[in-house]
Amino acid sequence: MRTPFVVGNWKLHKTIAESLALVTELKNQLGSLREVVVGVAPPFTALHAVAKRLEDSSLVVSSQDCYWEEKGAFTGEVSPGMLRDAGCAWAIIGHSERRQFFGETDETVGKKVKAALAAGLGVIACVGETLAQRDGNTTFQIVEQHLGGVFSGVDATQGAALSERIVLAYEPVWAIGTGRTATPAQAQEVHAFIRAWLAKHVSAAAAAAIRIQYGGSVKPDNAATLMREPDIDGALVGGASLQAADFVAICRAARPA
Ligand code: PEP
Repeated sequence: MRTPFVVGNWKLHKTIAESLALVTELKNQLGSLREVVVGVAPPFTALHAVAKRLEDSSLVVSSQDCYWEEKGAFTGEVSPGMLRDAGCAWAIIGHSERRQFFGETDETVGKKVKAALAAGLGVIACVGETLAQRDGNTTFQIVEQHLGGVFSGVDATQGAALSERIVLAYEPVWAIGTGRTATPAQAQEVHAFIRAWLAKHVSAAAAAAIRIQYGGSVKPDNAATLMREPDIDGALVGGASLQAADFVAICRAARPA
């Protein structure tokens, strides 16, 4: 039984004061939700304040990225150890916006995953195809390529224990921020493909235990049907995570039936 994991990716939104207002609301409304792990990924500037505010709650804090070196002359970067120090337990790695706008590659994703895990962070690793790739029937090929990058940074001998430290997010790029969600069947097809890939290339135990979130225009009105699919274990939520009411509704919809 995989405990669903729902994470709000706030992207380039919210000051420290706004972040605190939102997480205080989430803590009040979701503090007693036991069947779903809930996380927030604020911008770097708000991480420490948010982590402090959530210290005595079940909500977890994630960064939206991290660098692969611990220290050095890398202006503008933030290391996994610094994120731990700021109170982060997780790091989102390989988000399509990083791939699209900031030159993230499968190679850099692998390095980041490896460094994050070594520093004791959990990793939420994103994979997913663009619209052109879906239309060109290369979805599985692209997802497989992304998974190869992610797992190049992972010691695959850890079996089911890996699931405590790695979560995958299937995020079709054409569904991110577009209001165009994958249908539950479209999402399930790729999630099942990912689980089969894990069984073949990592281990059967890891395939059974690793959570695979869906991301791409998840909203209160479509969350429940997506979450009902057998291989969807939560959500990575962008736009709808910026308002407490919407995000709370999505987290509640992720509860197992
Ligand atoms: C995301 O940024 O990971 C995402 C899924 O965004 P949205 O929910 O806005 O599509």
